Amino acid sequence: MLTPGTPPPFPLRWGFSTRLDAPETLPPRRLDQVHRCGVVEAGEAVVAADGIWTTRPGIPIGVRVADCVPILLAGPLADGRPWVAALHAGWRGATGHGDADPGGGILRRGVARFQALGGRPGDLAWALGPAILACHFEVGPEVIEAARLDPAWREDLQAPGPSGRPHLDLHGFLRAQALHLGLDPEQDGSVPLCTVCRPDLLYSYRSGDTTGRQWGWVEIL
Ligand SMILES: [Zn+2]
Repeated sequence: MLTPGTPPPFPLRWGFSTRLDAPETLPPRRLDQVHRCGVVEAGEAVVAADGIWTTRPGIPIGVRVADCVPILLAGPLADGRPWVAALHAGWRGATGHGDADPGGGILRRGVARFQALGGRPGDLAWALGPAILACHFEVGPEVIEAARLDPAWREDLQAPGPSGRPHLDLHGFLRAQALHLGLDPEQDGSVPLCTVCRPDLLYSYRSGDTTGRQWGWVEIL
């Protein structure tokens, strides 16, 4: 388990699992992830969504990834109750591409849920987990086009790779969104490990792990 490098705002357990974590230590599966931007409150049923949140202690929630970025958020609501979320962001999730809701990518929607409950973005502790980083994330031009629609986009978040096709800095793109949303850079506990560079520790779909996944998960204690 890799733990975010920022102090949590209230007692919680959170982090990013690796190949070394025993399955029984991981949360129950609550999401049927579909590479969209739905963010739901944790309930009893497994639902089709890519983000999940809760205010209840003792309910571990998470997302499963193997190249996409797992995002963890934790902050106090206006009434002091703890709020936590886990989000799954591939390029579609990060950009909101193809989603009927014009609310932007999943990080924007996750933070909007927190704000709707009275939370202030600057109070969130947050972390982007292991994912395919700019060293290996070659993408097509349609991905860059989708990313350019986000108000936080900067052209230095892409650079041509060895093949001439662009490499996207998905972590950098999500961090730019986070800061644009008002999250505090001092509360960024991201774990910037690349899933392709670290096959000893991490699953990578592009590297051939079609079934293995790591979790980004959080539980209020
Ligand atoms: Zn890499």
